Amino acid sequence: MSSLGGMTVPSRLPLLLSHEGVLLPGSTVRFNVDTPRNMHLIKHRLLKGTSLKSTIIGVIPNTRDPAKDADDLPTLHKIGTAGIAVQVVGSNWPKPHYTLLITGLCRFSVSSLLTERPFVLAEVEHLDKLEHYTTPAEGVTAEDGELQELSQKFYQTALQLLGMLDMSVPVVAKFRRLLDSLPKETLPDVVASMIRTSNKEKLQVLDAVSLEERFKKTLPMLTRQIEGLKLLQKTRRMMPGPEKKVRKGGVFPGRHFNLNEEDEDEDGDDAPSLEKKVHGANMPDAALRVCLKELKRLKKMPQSMPEYALTRNYLDLMVELPWNKSTKDCLDIRAARLLLDNDHYAMDKLKRRVLEYLAVRQLRASLKGPILCFVGPPGVGKTSVGRSIAKTLGREFHRIALGGVCDQSDIRGHRRTYVGSMPGRIINGLKTVGVNNPVFLLDEVDKLAKSLQGDPAAALLEVLDPEQNHSFTDHYLNVAFDLSQVLFIATANTTATIPPALLDRMEVLQVPGYTQEEKVEISHRHLIANQMEQHGLSPQQLQIPPDTTKDIINRYTREAGVRSLERKIGAICRAVAVKIAEVQTDSKTEELTPEGHTQQGEKAAPPAMPIVIDHRALKDILGTPPFDMEVSERLTLPGVALGLAWTPLGGEIMFVEASRMEGEGQLTLTGQLGDIMKESAHLSISWLRANAKRYQLTNMVGGPDPLEGTDIHLHFPAGAVTKDGPSAGVTIVTCLASLFSGRLVRSDVAMTGEITLRGLVLPVGGIKDKVLAAHRAGVKRVIVPKRNEKDLEELPANVRDDLDFVTAADLDQVLNAAFDGGFPGAARMREHPQISSKL
Ligand code: ADP
Repeated sequence: MSSLGGMTVPSRLPLLLSHEGVLLPGSTVRFNVDTPRNMHLIKHRLLKGTSLKSTIIGVIPNTRDPAKDADDLPTLHKIGTAGIAVQVVGSNWPKPHYTLLITGLCRFSVSSLLTERPFVLAEVEHLDKLEHYTTPAEGVTAEDGELQELSQKFYQTALQLLGMLDMSVPVVAKFRRLLDSLPKETLPDVVASMIRTSNKEKLQVLDAVSLEERFKKTLPMLTRQIEGLKLLQKTRRMMPGPEKKVRKGGVFPGRHFNLNEEDEDEDGDDAPSLEKKVHGANMPDAALRVCLKELKRLKKMPQSMPEYALTRNYLDLMVELPWNKSTKDCLDIRAARLLLDNDHYAMDKLKRRVLEYLAVRQLRASLKGPILCFVGPPGVGKTSVGRSIAKTLGREFHRIALGGVCDQSDIRGHRRTYVGSMPGRIINGLKTVGVNNPVFLLDEVDKLAKSLQGDPAAALLEVLDPEQNHSFTDHYLNVAFDLSQVLFIATANTTATIPPALLDRMEVLQVPGYTQEEKVEISHRHLIANQMEQHGLSPQQLQIPPDTTKDIINRYTREAGVRSLERKIGAICRAVAVKIAEVQTDSKTEELTPEGHTQQGEKAAPPAMPIVIDHRALKDILGTPPFDMEVSERLTLPGVALGLAWTPLGGEIMFVEASRMEGEGQLTLTGQLGDIMKESAHLSISWLRANAKRYQLTNMVGGPDPLEGTDIHLHFPAGAVTKDGPSAGVTIVTCLASLFSGRLVRSDVAMTGEITLRGLVLPVGGIKDKVLAAHRAGVKRVIVPKRNEKDLEELPANVRDDLDFVTAADLDQVLNAAFDGGFPGAARMREHPQISSKL
């Protein structure tokens, strides 16, 4: 047994046969362990052992082919190095192996082998005089005059080498430290492992058991290194240009030093490089202070501690965040207008407002002001306009989906004390884009939810408020990050569910749905080309004529936006792609037939001609149209009327059906109605009863009170959707008037409006979306409240041209317009108050 700084090295050592690399005392080497004997050693000795002693093994160089180790034991090299295992990492990829990090302690020679399996165990004799290592002052005695001289010369030469190197490189700094702190006798081993030497040379150093010989062997290696550097410096001096200036302090040591990981790793991971990154991240002082503190803690932690990974992740994020990195805005309003127009058809009002917003921002060179919030049904291009804004400004774009977010830590992050804690979406977004001035699209702010985990809307307020957001503090980061350069844009389907405080900070821009003509244009200008590109199709392969597009819009989709339309076009592209692929395979197999040319099968459309999608092809690909039922077909019985409803997904047509049966004057309502709808139904009945005489309404047996001996059932189809709101009042009155009078409501009329007990018609919201829905459904006449007349001006000209508007102030006017030839008993106005196309 020998002792080394209080550590005992046993005289019986398990031996690791090293095929690559030589371990010298005082150096640290990483070995890749994959031969059976060596793996057994690690498994049974290192991983099972509990004492410090069990981590000491012998490493003996073995130049034989490792594959042969499996069976007989080779003749071993006579000298090896005892070392202490510092780290063992196992992996199964690409094959089972361990990586062993080991630090050399002292030389030994093998006296006798004890066992060969499962791993080699040997009786060894220690060769180094270990006292030299522990008591350097007494190490070299006076009589070793020559040795002392040698060691002094070695030290001086090493110093000379150091002087030529760049001290900022970690491995050089470490070399310097070791040179001064280690006893001189250990220097040959340490230096031979640090400077660039071949394995053969290292083996010679290992074999040099006498100190004198060791100095003599390593000194020429040092001098060789110095000569090499001198030559390099000379050539650099002769080199013109900037290369010369690089690394003024010295020559880059890479070619002369072993820059292997071990040398950098030893002091605890790659802490120095992380420290460098921390300093280079350009972060504000407060953040830098926190980082340095964490870094200090990290250095003291063993890597196996779970907290090590947490701290490491935190520091990595801090270093990655764009504290001071931004893109330069390049706003040219004319180019912006062009780009917006190119990317989006129609939506003129929105585009105009966006340009104004950008222009003001540019003039004031500040981002303070309201946040734009695009409100409209899905698929009308809200996200896409946001993306274009980023493009016009030359900024990065990032979308943050807020739908269903109910935990404030989604926005603001989790505190680092939690396991699995992470930063919020804002900080994550910044990390993703890598700059501090991106365009952030906060998608679906109307779908934020509240929960026990706090109110995400409140957290969002802090993010959006220009007075506060320059020091936004994410819980995970726990230091302020300046968000004032971020351009936020929000989107929502409705303003009704946006928390009021949030709504207050935003300027709402309505994005209404599209008309059929607009959709056709959008399809042909954008959607079809986009989808074809995505599916790798060219206009020579597929053509969709406008008539077909109209068919898709009217019979296969019923939506305000164009999302489902885009999907249907995608479906067509996929079908066509399959056909074309089939043709190509067919023609390939045809080429192989000996006849030369073959007849084309039915499937095989000539590849030179585009596949044109006509109505038949459309039906083949998309199936039977789901929205084929004409409105007029539904209105063939008395007691049915067509209303218009507004939903966050856009306007919709809504049928109201009524029937009556013998009973006791009961009113039954079905179709998931809210309280306001129920009240409207009662109001309608009261109005009709009060005016039954005037309108000549009778009950089932011809009596004067329509409700006498009669039960009434009102139904609003599409029962799965909850309906509420006052705007169905006029529709219910019309429907019941039709039922009681037995007259049919005109099949091309749709209506909306709230009613009072006295028969007045009050204005309602969402007129534009409702009218667009009526237009989509092929309705010709729309009855709206008189006081909504101004809303009609916002409609696209072609819709106004197509429709016949009746603005009604009271129910008489509604009834007159809803029934052919007017309604009996309803007071006629001077002339029917029509507003036709000329608005
Ligand atoms: P939203 O965010 O309103 O739900 P998107 O921006 O995701 O809608 O739009 C859906 C698709 O429709 C996108 O491919 C978009 O490019 C396209 N689109 C919508 N409106 C237009 C338009 N006016 N011009 C061109 N393409 C449009």
